[in-house]
Amino acid sequence: MIWRTEIPYKVNYFTWLLAKQAVLTHENLNKRKPNLRSICYLCEEQVETVNHLFLHCKWIDQLWQMFIQKRKIKWTKPRSIIEVLQFWNRDGNAGKNEKRWRIVPACIWWTIWKERNQRCFEGKQNNIQKIKTNCLGIYYFWCKQVVIGDAENVFNIIDGL
Ligand SMILES: [Zn+2]
Repeated sequence: MIWRTEIPYKVNYFTWLLAKQAVLTHENLNKRKPNLRSICYLCEEQVETVNHLFLHCKWIDQLWQMFIQKRKIKWTKPRSIIEVLQFWNRDGNAGKNEKRWRIVPACIWWTIWKERNQRCFEGKQNNIQKIKTNCLGIYYFWCKQVVIGDAENVFNIIDGL
């Protein structure tokens, strides 16, 4: 499910690490070095675990909703990264523009991971509107790579979800 998408190699690799729960969030760092500050950089309310940051944080939830609402499909909160990938690729959910639909989870995760690292290492934060725009920008950019030579503008691509 991961390798079949046509997104940058490093993002594919990152998604694979996520699926294996091996991304270096506090949860995973704490296994090596206990007592690090472990609050989520986005909501600053919950402990930063892979599942929190990439599935349940109220910030990432807005990104999920942004895409889910376009398809009017029923989204029950998945319990793991693997479950998201299974849900996302299920027949009926993928629908039209299947290739583009498949890259959405990686777009969301990559957006959140970049924002999280920017907050963590540079002390800079974007508001939710800017994060959504970043996510759509990444989606648009990757779609352009998937459909090479296609002159669609960003609105067509997002409307075509
Ligand atoms: Zn959070």
